[in-house]
Amino acid sequence: MAERIDGRAVANLLDEKSKAQVDEMLADGLHRPGLAVILVGDDGASHVYVRRKIKACEKIGVTSIERRLPADTTQDALLAVIAELNADPAVHGILCQVPLPPHIDTRRVLASISPDKDVDGFHPVNVGRLSTGTGGIVPCTPLGVMILLQSVIDDFVGLDAVVIGKSNIVGRPVANLLLDAECTVTVTHIYTADLPAICRKADIIVAAAGAPGLVKGEWVKEGAVIIDVGITRVMGDDGKEKLLGDVCFDEVQHAKAVTPVPGGVGPMTIACLLANTVQAAKNLQNGQLTASDYDDAPDRSMFT
Ligand code: NAD
Repeated sequence: MAERIDGRAVANLLDEKSKAQVDEMLADGLHRPGLAVILVGDDGASHVYVRRKIKACEKIGVTSIERRLPADTTQDALLAVIAELNADPAVHGILCQVPLPPHIDTRRVLASISPDKDVDGFHPVNVGRLSTGTGGIVPCTPLGVMILLQSVIDDFVGLDAVVIGKSNIVGRPVANLLLDAECTVTVTHIYTADLPAICRKADIIVAAAGAPGLVKGEWVKEGAVIIDVGITRVMGDDGKEKLLGDVCFDEVQHAKAVTPVPGGVGPMTIACLLANTVQAAKNLQNGQLTASDYDDAPDRSMFT
C-alpha cells in the first residue's frame, strides 16, 4: 500500500511553526504580522475562501484586515485601496481575491501590489525571481506541493519529475521549484504526446490538470511519489457535492506515497499563505526585502 500523505496533518505542523514564529517576533519587539484581504463583488466561492483565510489568521495570531468592495468598484478606486495598503506599515501581506469583475484588468491590479507584500506570489517580480532561482515569494499551492514532497522524499537530486499542467498558478511554478531542487523536470499539458509513457519514467508526478481520474495505475512506476493537485467538483448520487482528483487513487497503491483528494494539497494552500505572510512580515521589519532587494535564493525547505 502506498503511504497516504496527510495534507491536513502537514498543514497543522506548518501552522504550528508559523504560530511559533509569530510568538518569537512579538517577543523580539516586532509588530504582529498583518494580512489584508481584498474582496470585490459577490462571488460566492470567494466569500467562502476569504472566511477560511480570516479564520486561519486567527488560529496563528496574524491580524486580518478585510476590505470588501462593491462589484461596481472602479479599477482606479481598487488601485487606490492597494496603494494605501502598500504604504501601511501594519500590513505585511496583501491578497486580492480573484476572479475580479470583468471591467477590472486583473493583471494590472496584481502588478500594483508591492512585490514584498505579494503573499500570493503572482507579481511579475516574484514570478521572475522564481523562474531564475533567485528568491522572492512563492505561490501558495506550489509551495504546499513542495512541502508535501519534502515530507516523504529526503533527496531530490537527479530525480525524474513530471508536472501535468502548465498554468501560471500551479504547473509552471511547481516545475521551477522542482528544478531548483535539482530534479530533471518534464512539463506536460493537454497537447503532450504519449503522456502515459512520460509518466511511467517518473519518480515524482505532480498532477494539476483538473481532469478527474487522468493518471491511471499503469502510468505509475513502482515507488513513485504522486501529488494530486486536481480538484473537480461533481454531484454524487446522494445529491452531495464530491471532490475528484486527477489521479485514480485506488489504482496507484504500488506508488511510494500519494496525496488523497480531499485532504492532500487543499489544506496546504492556506497554511502556505500564512507562512508567506509571516515570512514577509519578518523580512519587511528586518529591512530585508523579500522580492526586490536580495540576491541569494532563500532556503525553501519549510517542512524540516
Ligand atoms: P488550468 O485550467 O489553468 O490549467 C490546466 C492545465 O492542465 C493546462 O496546462 C492544460 O493543458 C493541462 N491539462 C488539462 N487537461 C489535460 C489532460 N487531459 N492531459 C494533460 N494535460 C491536461 O488549471 P489550474 O488553475 O492550473 O488548476 C489545475 C487543477 O488544480 C484544477 O483542478 C484546480 O481546481 C486545482 N487547483 C487546486 C488547488 C488546491 O489548493 N488544491 C489550487 C489551485 C488549483
